[in-house]
Amino acid sequence: MKDKYDCIVVGAGPAGSMAAWVLAKNKHKVLLLEKHKEVGLPLCCAEAVSFRGLSICEQVNPAWIRSKIEKIALCPPSGKELKVSYSSAGLVLDRKIFDRDLALRAESSGAELKVNAQAVGLINNNRGEICGIRMKKDGRESEYQTKIVIAADGIESMVGRWAGIDNALKLEGVDSAYQYLLKADPLDQECIEFHLGTKIAPGGYAWVFPKGKGLANVGLAITPSLGNNIKAKELLDFFVMKRFKNFSVVEWMTGGVPAFSRRSQLVKGNILLTGDAARLVDSLSGAGIANALLSGKIAGQVASEYLVNGGNSPDFLKKYEEEFLKIKGRELRFYSYCRKIYLKMRDEDFEEVIQFLKEYLKDEDSTRLTPIQTLKAILRSNPKLLLLLRHLVW
Ligand SMILES: Cc1cc2nc3c(=O)[nH]c(=O)nc-3n(C[C@H](O)[C@H](O)[C@H](O)COP(=O)(O)OP(=O)(O)OC[C@H]3O[C@@H](n4cnc5c(N)ncnc54)[C@H](O)[C@@H]3O)c2cc1C
Repeated sequence: MKDKYDCIVVGAGPAGSMAAWVLAKNKHKVLLLEKHKEVGLPLCCAEAVSFRGLSICEQVNPAWIRSKIEKIALCPPSGKELKVSYSSAGLVLDRKIFDRDLALRAESSGAELKVNAQAVGLINNNRGEICGIRMKKDGRESEYQTKIVIAADGIESMVGRWAGIDNALKLEGVDSAYQYLLKADPLDQECIEFHLGTKIAPGGYAWVFPKGKGLANVGLAITPSLGNNIKAKELLDFFVMKRFKNFSVVEWMTGGVPAFSRRSQLVKGNILLTGDAARLVDSLSGAGIANALLSGKIAGQVASEYLVNGGNSPDFLKKYEEEFLKIKGRELRFYSYCRKIYLKMRDEDFEEVIQFLKEYLKDEDSTRLTPIQTLKAILRSNPKLLLLLRHLVW
């Protein structure tokens, strides 16, 4: 086997680069592998993140930010939208710059970054423990030794599966998305839009996230398990024609969004799963950047502690799962519960919810409300929504 590392991180997305950065800052020998030729490409993301989510990075580079969200519009099937000022809502990033910067930051702190380098398998020692990675670059395979592996290989994650973790996605646990980068008109550059309805996007929603200079990420996600054989692209094309007077397509992308599962396993032996690889996504909105950053950061911190106190058993690494779920477990479970309701909502339900919010937000300072407080208020006001769960087995 070739070089020996303290930790090999597979995948240079937000989760992997964050983990590699933390480990490198703490002077550990880290290898960060990215299978694509360039970090951050190809990308499939609408790029919105909350201020709090972005602050996990600690040092924020203004070049990452394409626009600041000042308003949110929720549009039910009738078109009678609700628009609220929400200056603390968040930002739309330029992830090509963001992802690349995070990886370079890890590298400047001492991590070794290899692009065009795909992890293709794990290596076991004679006690059956993972002691290395097989990596393919330019058609040639090499082997590297390591004490810890951090899997940050996104939705298609294989590392967990090689280690025997059952993180295979079930049909009902993944949404299918299609997105355009559009030059479009009319567009309110300060407002993000969510368009809801069973015909607009069954089980999902359509979004318009402005990126400055007349551009916007305009996309749509659907839940294929609802079984209506519709393609996200067809629905998106229909939506775009209806929503914009003029538009031209600058880029298109397609991808999947995994839903959080309460059975997600984050640690097995010396393998730590982070970000989308661990399915740490808000199941209602599909947002995963903040959880990828946080899980990468905590995984890096716990891995570093383990390496410093070398005598510990790999059981010590379970601290990563405990710490992450202590901060995020309740929230992820709540969103997962809301998704089950959302999948059963009819167009009338969407209209009622928007109508309720119009009244509710009149009396509330929207900037002080968290998404969870607002969702709880919706459920309290409309117990009928809870009845939608009555046929579900928990
Ligand atoms: C259409 C769409 C829109 C979205 N919009 C938003 C949004 O607005 N806001 C939000 O918060 N989230 C959004 N998400 C989710 C968000 O993109 C992900 O949650 C986030 O990118 C997860 O980060 P990650 O680091 O875990 O994985 P990724 O960003 O997927 O990074 C994984 C990396 O691992 C690499 N890799 C994979 N396998 C290997 C291997 N074997 N060897 C080496 N490298 C490998 C990949 O090339 C990739 O670079 C969206 C997702 C989709 C599909």
